[in-house]
Amino acid sequence: MEQQLKSLKAEAIQAFSAAENLNALNELRVEYLGKKGSLTTILRGLGALSPEDRPKVGQMVNEVRAELESMLNNKNNELKAIELAARLKAEKIDVTLPGRINQVGHLHPLTLTLNRIKSIFMQMGFSVAEGPEVEQDHFNFEALNLPKDHPARDMQDSFYITEEILLRTHTSPVQARTMQANEPNSPIRIIAPGKVYRRDYDATHSPMFTQVEGLVVDKNISFSDLKGMLETFIHQIFNENVGVRFRPSFFPFTEPSAEVDISCVMCQGKGCRVCKGTGWLEILGSGMVHPRVLEMSGYDPNEVSGFAFGMGVERIAMLLYGIDDLRLFYDNDLRFLRQF
Ligand SMILES: [Zn+2]
Repeated sequence: MEQQLKSLKAEAIQAFSAAENLNALNELRVEYLGKKGSLTTILRGLGALSPEDRPKVGQMVNEVRAELESMLNNKNNELKAIELAARLKAEKIDVTLPGRINQVGHLHPLTLTLNRIKSIFMQMGFSVAEGPEVEQDHFNFEALNLPKDHPARDMQDSFYITEEILLRTHTSPVQARTMQANEPNSPIRIIAPGKVYRRDYDATHSPMFTQVEGLVVDKNISFSDLKGMLETFIHQIFNENVGVRFRPSFFPFTEPSAEVDISCVMCQGKGCRVCKGTGWLEILGSGMVHPRVLEMSGYDPNEVSGFAFGMGVERIAMLLYGIDDLRLFYDNDLRFLRQF
C-alpha cells in the first residue's frame, strides 16, 4: 500500500507539472483527488488493513493529499498568470491610433429659441399649456369668433380631414380649451407653444411651423398690461435697446388688436433688405380678448378682461440667428444645424 501511494504521488506530480492549461489541470484534480479519484480509492482500501497499520497509512494518505493539493494550487496560479498574460497580449490596444469621435447631437435651433421664449414667460408667472394638433373646427375657428364663411378664414387655409376636423392653423384653440376647462372667470396666465399648419410654401412660409400663443385673463387686465408684458419680453429676447411699436390691426378674436413691430435687428432701424427699407420688423400679433370669445368659453366680459398674443417661433429664430430662409429649419442639412 505504501508503495502504491508513492507511485501514485510520483505519477500525479508529473501529470500536474505537464498540464498545459486550466481545463487540463482541473481534469487531473478530479482524476487524482476527486470523489472517485485514485487517492479516494486507496483510502477505501484502508478497511482491509490490520488495525495497527490503519492510522499510519491513513496519515500517509492525508500527507500525500495535502502535498498534491498544494501543488495543484501553485500550478493553478501559474497557469492563470500565463493565460492572463496571453489575453493581455491579444487584446492590446494601440493608443497611438487616432480616435473615433462620437457624434453628439444637440437641440434644434427652433427648440433653442422656443426654450428661451418659454423661460422668459415662465419668469413672468406664465405656465405652459398644450392642445391637439388635429383640432375641431369649433375650437380652431368658431370659439374664436370666426364663424363659418367668415372672410378671415381665407387667411388661414388649412388641411381639412373632414368638414369639422382640421390640422390647427394656429395655437389659439388652446385658449378656448383652457378657458372651457377652467371655472368661469378664474384667472389664466398661459403660453401655448406648438406646431400649426397652413397651406403655404415659400422662403418665409412653411406648411408646418411653430407658434407661441399667450393668454392672460383676470379682473382689470388692460391694454397697458399687454404693452408692458410684451415690451419686457421683446427686450429680454432681443436686447434692451430694441425699439418696439404697436400698430392698429384687425383679428377676429381680439378688440382692439395690434401688430407689434421691433426696430430692425439687422440694420438697427436704418433700413435694409430684410426690413424692406422701413427700419421695422413685424414680429407678433396681439390684442384685448374679444368679449364674444370670453363669452363663448363661459367667461363674463363684464367681470374679467384679458389680452392675447401670438408669434411665429421661426420668425424669432430667423431674427435672433440672422437666417434668411425659413426652409433651412426643416431641411435637416447638418452643415446648417451644426452651427447652433
Ligand atoms: Zn433693416
